[in-house]
Amino acid sequence: MDKKQFTERLKKIDVKNKGVISLYNEISALAMELGLSSAGKASERNAYYLSMEFLIGRSFYNNLMELGVLEQTSEILAEKGIDINVFEEIEDAALGNGGLGRLAACFLDSAAGLGLPLHGYGIRYKYGLFKQAIKNGFQIELPDDWQRFGDPWSVRRENEKRTVIFADMSVTAVPYDMPVFGKRTNVLRLWQAEGSAEAQKISEYLYPADDTEEGKILRLRQEYFFSAAAVGELIEKHIKKHGRNFESFPQYNAIQLNDTHPVLSIIEFIRLLTADYKVNFSDALEIAKKTFSYTNHTVLPEALECWNADIVKKILPDIYALLIKIHLKQKDELTRLNCTREELADMAIYTSNGFSMANLALYVAKTVNGVAKLHTEILKQNLFKTAYKYYPGKFQNKTNGITQRRWLMLCNGELSVLLDETIGTGWRSDVSELGKLNGYIGQIAEEFVAVKAEKKKQLFKYIKQREGVDIPDNFLVYSQVKRLHEYKRQLMTAFAILEIYYGLKDGTIKNFAPSVFIFGAKSAPAYKRAKTIIKFINEIAAIVNEDEQTNGLLKVVFVCNYNVSYAEKIIAGSDVSLQVSTAGLEASGTGNMKFMMNGAVTCGTMDGANIEIVEYAGLENNYVFGATVEDISKLKKEGYEPLKYLADPKHGKAVKTLIDGTFEDGGTGSFKELYDSLTVGASWHKADNYFVLYDLESYVNALLKINGDYKDKNSFAEKQLKNVANSAYFSSDRTIKEYADEIWEISDAF
Ligand SMILES: *Cc1c(COP(=O)(O)O)cnc(C)c1O
Repeated sequence: MDKKQFTERLKKIDVKNKGVISLYNEISALAMELGLSSAGKASERNAYYLSMEFLIGRSFYNNLMELGVLEQTSEILAEKGIDINVFEEIEDAALGNGGLGRLAACFLDSAAGLGLPLHGYGIRYKYGLFKQAIKNGFQIELPDDWQRFGDPWSVRRENEKRTVIFADMSVTAVPYDMPVFGKRTNVLRLWQAEGSAEAQKISEYLYPADDTEEGKILRLRQEYFFSAAAVGELIEKHIKKHGRNFESFPQYNAIQLNDTHPVLSIIEFIRLLTADYKVNFSDALEIAKKTFSYTNHTVLPEALECWNADIVKKILPDIYALLIKIHLKQKDELTRLNCTREELADMAIYTSNGFSMANLALYVAKTVNGVAKLHTEILKQNLFKTAYKYYPGKFQNKTNGITQRRWLMLCNGELSVLLDETIGTGWRSDVSELGKLNGYIGQIAEEFVAVKAEKKKQLFKYIKQREGVDIPDNFLVYSQVKRLHEYKRQLMTAFAILEIYYGLKDGTIKNFAPSVFIFGAKSAPAYKRAKTIIKFINEIAAIVNEDEQTNGLLKVVFVCNYNVSYAEKIIAGSDVSLQVSTAGLEASGTGNMKFMMNGAVTCGTMDGANIEIVEYAGLENNYVFGATVEDISKLKKEGYEPLKYLADPKHGKAVKTLIDGTFEDGGTGSFKELYDSLTVGASWHKADNYFVLYDLESYVNALLKINGDYKDKNSFAEKQLKNVANSAYFSSDRTIKEYADEIWEISDAF
């Protein structure tokens, strides 16, 4: 099928009496036919991205765009009286939690766009990330039954199913292939678990609660399940093409492990070679060392996975035995290098907490990478210091990126057209051409203001429909949208809003440009304090939005069920990107990059990729505040006393709203607990573990400075445009080229 035939068949579709869902399925199926009819040749050498999460979002518009038929489809549907936006009723496939899963989706998009053979392996969860509802200000979780709309973008490959064996059951892994369209068509293969009721549970939920032993076992099964299915298949494919010459496996295959979740694939790989094909252990390990690479995504200790040895022994006895063997082998090697006892303990695979997936990855992986410059430095100097001493050559940095196809072309057609008119359309295929915009900043400031105003209008209309909150057209938009976590410090923004609100009421803040603060965030269901912060923000929104003295100047909205599709709208319509994590704790961030590309200035700390964003777009075009990594480590050494910051009446008043009866927590005592966590410390953490009170004052000042600067519309628009013009570095096309050249050694020559 070619585009012309697609158009003809689309015209023939009878839309009468058809619901949105069946129309969606019909058009999607037609587009699949178009896309798959031109699937390119297989490549000799391929890279594989193993990831527990792929946060794809809506496929419909993106795939039509990649196939070059989005405009035609929109026009033909319009002739039939249908607005193409009706398919927004079809909810996102949310097979991921946040940044890590969205990165995986951006990477696949960029690789296909560049013609690079990179394929994904993951799990086809029946239920993705929960849908968030808000009741009385509290988060409620509802199951995300995304398949109820059908799944027209996947193909079930019945005859490529495999068996994954656990000590107590065997599970059928059935692949579902989602094509990734672009310059070449790659595949995201998601495994679905079938068999007994127990077996099916493995692919039922993304992140089952793992606070019980049962939950932990299920999580381990998930990780092993997709890892084993993936490497088992790759080894079989290799044998079909190249015989049992496993020495050549790394010549044809590169495997990237997205965080520690798929690290057991290393052990499964060695198990298959040694047990099924009689390769000796040392040779198998050497082959693995040339095949696997590992990306670290976080320095938070609670996220570094360790598997309890008894659990592993019980459900995966062969894997257990190999883990012990590899542990001893590493120990032996390191001992011969005169490693100290402490160093050995630090790098051990078998630790007192169980099997350390990170240490296993550090030992075997060909390369280890962090996801922003600062983060990689922290890995080398801090978290993985000892491993860096013994394996310095493994460490690399690969600063994250985002795909400009979804995050600019698709979500901001208006800005894209302005770019086309200003610098030509070359940036659409070669994103580095965005840099040309630097020569036109002053000339198009006014047009940019108009584009931003239009995107805000669309956003406010959508927010009105979904959340019922009115935001007047000309408001300045500050946005903080991301997972809810204490280190991301949504709480600090909440306090800052209260200070501004009280300042407006008592007249100490004057000439304030009318502004709205938009939050979007899901909290992990079991993360009580994060849920309390959501409630707190909703309480603030309720009071602020109803206060007639100030609500012509200040509004607060917490949008419900933040996801990729909501992100597309919020990001295009924002002026200011709030990226305020405690320095050293946000590995990279990718939300910050999406905002930058859409012309929002960053108001942020010197953390993660913010540092590089500011480097590229200029310090003078962004707003940096707060403690640096060095400041924080000094504070920790010298002793940090948050209480003294409460002595300032402005901060004191804002923070004490948690306990002085200003707000209601529904009798749960959770606001008091939150207050205690800041002032006296709670559950193993010190008081104000994330330095909220330390940075609060400089944060409020930065927000007010922005507010003042915004009044000069054109000069503010110039700052915003400087961000757009220098955002090419943050395209995942750049990131993927680096992975392709420096780790995977793949190219688009096939
Ligand atoms: C980009 C994105 C994220 C990651 O945001 P950060 O600000 O980098 O944490 C999370 N969720 C969704 C839906 C996204 O699109």
